Amino acid sequence: MERANWSRRTRQREMILREIKKLRTHPSAADIYEIVRKKLPRISLGTVYRNLEDLSRAGIIRKIRDGGTRARYDGTAAGHYHLHCQRCGRLVDLEKDPSPPVRVGPGKMDGWEITGYRLEFTGICPSCLKKKV
Ligand SMILES: [Zn+2]
Ligand SMILES: [Zn+2]
Repeated sequence: MERANWSRRTRQREMILREIKKLRTHPSAADIYEIVRKKLPRISLGTVYRNLEDLSRAGIIRKIRDGGTRARYDGTAAGHYHLHCQRCGRLVDLEKDPSPPVRVGPGKMDGWEITGYRLEFTGICPSCLKKKV
């Protein structure tokens, strides 16, 4: 029984990780849940959320705050830049990093131990720009 539980949990975690790595949209726990439950119908939103938290604590994925309270997750753990649309909330990776690149850590800065960084550009995305307001 213990063994069966363990392998089920591993399968769930692998599925969640695989799906988040496929997405470039920085999904919320609810978004991931909608996708994963098509393959694992018995999974709960709580399980998905717990796995995402564990994976981000382990540094395998990243947790990003969406301004408000809703957390979104990033399947790319390495430092990269984001573009955030102020109208529709779309959050995407910047394909081409601007230069000069930010060079930070790991290491100490101002007495802090730096574990990573996040840079986000805000603006209006191409599809919102096309729409007349
Ligand atoms: Zn937009
Ligand atoms: Zn990203």
